[in-house]
Amino acid sequence: MNLKQCYLTQNDCYKSKQKHAVKGFMLHSTGANNPNLCRYVQPDDGLLGPNPNGNDWNRPTVEGNTQMCAHGFIGKLKDGSIATYQTLPWDIVGWHSGSGTKGYSANANNNGYIGVEICEDGLTDESYFSKIYKEAVELCAYLCKTYNIKPESPYIICHSEGNTLGIASGHADVMHWFPKHGKSMDTFRTDVKESIDIPAKVVPTEEPNNQTSMYKVQLGAFTEKENAEKMQKILEDKGFTDSYVKEEKS
Ligand SMILES: [Zn+2]
Repeated sequence: MNLKQCYLTQNDCYKSKQKHAVKGFMLHSTGANNPNLCRYVQPDDGLLGPNPNGNDWNRPTVEGNTQMCAHGFIGKLKDGSIATYQTLPWDIVGWHSGSGTKGYSANANNNGYIGVEICEDGLTDESYFSKIYKEAVELCAYLCKTYNIKPESPYIICHSEGNTLGIASGHADVMHWFPKHGKSMDTFRTDVKESIDIPAKVVPTEEPNNQTSMYKVQLGAFTEKENAEKMQKILEDKGFTDSYVKEEKS
C-alpha cells in the first residue's frame, strides 16, 4: 500500500467535520475514464500533478453541483505509479453514498462507512486493474485492523451492494467493473480477510531447544589496543554507542 494524505480542505464536507464512529467500508469507483488522481485530489503536492480543468473535489459546493466527498482515492500519480490518497480524516462523516430506500438517516454516510473511490480507466486494462485491486485490498485490510471492522458483508460493501441493502443511491460501482477481471466483492472480502491474517502467518516459530542465533558485526582487528579504542571512539562519535573492544589471544 502506498498511502498518502491530501485533505480536501475546501470541500464543504471537510469543513463540516461531523464525527462518526467507523463501522464499515464502502468501495466506489468514479464512473469516468480518468485514472489520474490529480483529476480528483488537489492541490498538487509534486507527486499528483496539477488539474488544469479545476473540476477536482477540493472546492466548495456550488449551486447545481452534487455534494460529494470521499475519504480517499486510489489511482495513478503523475509518474504512472499507484497510490492511495486519504482526502478526509477517517473519523468524520463522508458524502459518498447518497441515500437508498431506507432513507437519509439509514444511509451509509450517516452510519459510519468510510468511502473510498477508485479512479476508473477504460475498465479493460488488466495491468491497471490488478494494481488498484491490490491497493484497495491492502487499504481496506489496514482500515479493518485500525477500526476493528469485520471483513464481511454488510461491513465491507461496494456502492451497488449498498443500494441493494437500501443504504446507498442507485449506482453500479464497483460491480460493473470487477467481474470484467474475474473479481467481485466476495473475492474482495476474502482477499481482505487473508491480508489481515497474514501477520499471524509470518510470525517466526521459536527455534528448537530455545537456541537463539546472534549475528554480530565486526569492524576491525588490531594488534595495538590503542588503535582498537580509536576505532571505537570513531563509532561512538557516529552514534554507535553499543560497541565494545574485546581481546582475543591468537
Ligand atoms: Zn459510488
